[in-house]
This record gives sequence, structure tokens and C-alpha cells, in this order.
Amino acid sequence: MDIPFAESYKIKMVESIRKSTREEREKWINDARYNLFNLSSEQVYIDLLTDSGTGAMSDRQWAAMMTGDESYAGARSYYNMKKALKDILGFDYFLPTHQGRAAENVLFSVLVKSGDIVPGNSHFDTTKGHIEFRSAHAIDCTIDEAFDPENEHPFKGNIDLSKLEDVLKDTPREKTPFIVVTLTNNTAGGQPVSMANIKGVAEMADKYGVKLLFDSARFAENAYFIKTREQGYADKSIKEIVLEMYQYAHYATMSSKKDAIVNMGGFVCFRDEEVFKKASTYNIMFEGFITYGGMSGRDMNALAVGLDEGTEFEYLETRIRQVAYLGQKLDEYNVPYQRPAGGHAIFIDARKVLPNVPKEEYIAQTLGIELYLEAGIRGVEIGTLLADRDPDTRENRYPKMELLRLAIPRRVYTNNHMDVIAAAAKNVYDRRHTITKGYKIKNEAPIMRHFTVELEKA
Ligand SMILES: *Cc1c(COP(=O)(O)O)cnc(C)c1O
Repeated sequence: MDIPFAESYKIKMVESIRKSTREEREKWINDARYNLFNLSSEQVYIDLLTDSGTGAMSDRQWAAMMTGDESYAGARSYYNMKKALKDILGFDYFLPTHQGRAAENVLFSVLVKSGDIVPGNSHFDTTKGHIEFRSAHAIDCTIDEAFDPENEHPFKGNIDLSKLEDVLKDTPREKTPFIVVTLTNNTAGGQPVSMANIKGVAEMADKYGVKLLFDSARFAENAYFIKTREQGYADKSIKEIVLEMYQYAHYATMSSKKDAIVNMGGFVCFRDEEVFKKASTYNIMFEGFITYGGMSGRDMNALAVGLDEGTEFEYLETRIRQVAYLGQKLDEYNVPYQRPAGGHAIFIDARKVLPNVPKEEYIAQTLGIELYLEAGIRGVEIGTLLADRDPDTRENRYPKMELLRLAIPRRVYTNNHMDVIAAAAKNVYDRRHTITKGYKIKNEAPIMRHFTVELEKA
């Protein structure tokens, strides 16, 4: 008999979680104005709202916390982080920040001006927010295959080079501060970008004299997919692949709450000393002095260890196979999702699961509420609420896909939890014909409304 696969770690500490009744959940979600962000965590049994900052740190990371150096300037922990970024990503200059959007704020304050054009692959919501807040425009150049949930393309995060060239051809060089390559492409379903595509984008950037920014939150998961799916990389280590990827980047912004497996933290990396110096001023204003930037010494230490562990194949294999396991269970029950399974999450195809809810009534949000009512599972809407209104016309933007993202925290849940999630999704799917009404907006913020929106039954 073949020896089956199992996790590459064992458990040293546990946290209790609590089930609830459907009656309790009906009251709680109503009190939360049908916004899953408004639920308290104790009202949730399995929390798949995000994989951001929700991972379990290792014994090595906790040990590193104890030796954190909390000096204001020049802390040992800062140099530990500096060494990790040099060794793993190959950058000489960096600034710590309190999380990923802060890294965007610091870098974009130097580089993005009103009227600029920033092409990329399905910019993440905070990235787009920071671009539009500066009256610049994000243009999505993701390949068309990404918007067909059935398509099994191995690198659905890829940038369409001809779409990109159309943008670059029509935009003066000084109006294009950089191209964003999001690794993996979160919005398109945690889908990876191939090394060949990174290389192609880099060549085109070079041709037009434009710089490349890697939005790096899940760079290690991206490297895992390159190793397991792209020809020529099977025998390379994750760390070798990561270094090869980053040789093409001029800048990197990072949410360390993802692939660096810490609960809080981020950074921005530079090749160019001059941009680094300009950004340092913003870092001091917004985040903190350049050797801590909103992070404690102990957290910088944990981040340095997390970057090392997060780029080990055995860890990544455990993680990504768990996401794939949930996908296989959904396959058994015929529940449709963005294929193939992503690196950090399963994105359920809400239009197919709830064919009778009109698009004006927020289909993916409706599915999120149904899954919560079914079993206390909290996902997040990646649909019309997230897509927000057009900044000029103020009309709802209806995205190409209505998805419910089930993000799997790192090293937190077991495959038994995956079984519960899949069964709950099946039950909702089985009663899809009885769900015909969604929700309407009572209150919303002018930008990034999905975090605070208040809804009522339509
Ligand atoms: C999470 C994330 C960000 C923002 O990082 P925060 O740490 O949440 O501020 C930016 N880009 C991508 C792709 C992300 O997943």
C-alpha cells in the first residue's frame, strides 16, 4: 500500500472553537447588518474570511519573538529582517511597514501621481484603492482565461502581453510609474503567474522603459506552482525559484501577514537608492523610523524566520494540498468553483450556485450569508460589493465573476474542517432553487465599501 500524504508538522498548542445553532446565527447576522465583517469571531465556527494574519506561528518563530531587540534605531531584529530579504528576495534596500497597504502607501506616495496609468493583473483592492485615491487609474491586463471559472489553465494569474502592450503604447512613459504583477493573483482566485510570463512582462517593461512592482503577498505559493506546473522547474528549490522571480522586480510591496506567516507586518523593497531615500521620509511620517516602520523588534524577528519557513517546499506542499483537498471534496459534490484550486483559497462560483438571485442583489454576498447560516462558516465576497462604484459615474461596477472566497489560514485547520466546509457548501447548493432573493444596500462608504457596508433583505 502507498503511504498517504500527511502534514509536515505536528501540533503544540490549540485554541477552542465553538459551534452555534441556526437560530443564533440568524440573529447574529441580522445584528451584523448582513455584513460578515461585522460578526464577532466567537459567532464563527470556521473562519475563512481571510488568510491574512490568521496563520499559526511555529515554535521557531515564537522563540525568535523572545530575542526581539526593541531598540528604536538600528535594532538587531531589523538586521535579521534585512538579511532575510537579501537572502530570500535579493533586495539591498527595504523599509518595514505595519502591513501591506502601508507599504503601498509609502511607495505610491513617491511614485504615483494624478492621471497616472498603472497596468497590472487584477490589482488587489487596497492596491487599487491607493492608486485611485491618488486620482490615477488601475488597468487590468489579466488573461481572459482567468475569467472563465471552468478553464483549467495552470497560470490564470498571467498578464496578457498584448493587452499590456496596448496600454503601454498609448500612455506616455512618465505617466506609467510601474506595472504591478500580483503574485499570486488573489482577485482572480489565488492563481499563479508563470516564470515565462514574468519574463515576458519584464521584457516588455524594458522595451517601454517602465519599472516592475511585485505585489508579493503570496510569492512563495506562486513559486510552488512554478515548481510543480512549469516545465524546467521541478528540480529547483523554492528559494532558487523565488530568487529567479525577483531578479525581474524593481520594487516589491509585501503583506507579511500572508506568506511570511506572521500576524502583522509588511515591507517595501527597492533596487534604487534614490527612490528608497524619498520613500524613507514617507515611512517616517506614516509608519515609524526606517529601522522599525510600525513593527516591534520581536515581530521583525518572527517575520525573518517566517520568510525562511514559508519558502520551504514541505510547508508549501502541506498548505496547498489542503486547499486542493477542499477542492476535491467540492468536486465530489459538484459545487462549482474557480478552477484549478488556488494557492490560498477556494473561490466558489456564486452565479452557478445561486442562479436565481439577480445581480443587483449581490449574488456572492448572498452565498456568503447562506454558508454562514448553514454551518457558521465565514467566507468573503469577491463580487459586486468589492468591485465598488466607478469613481467617475458612481454606478455599480459588475465584475466578470461573482465569487465567494474561502481563504484557508496557514497551519490552522485540519482536513476534518475542510470536510465540514464542503458539506455545508453542498447543502446550500442542493437548495439553490429555493434561494431567489438577495440583499440591498442601506449604507456604504465612498471607497472600499465592502468592509463596512450595511445591507438589508431585498
Ligand atoms: C493582503 C494583500 C495586500 C494588502 O496587505 P495588508 O497587509 O492587508 O495591508 C496587498 N496585495 C495583496 C495581493 C494582498 O493579498
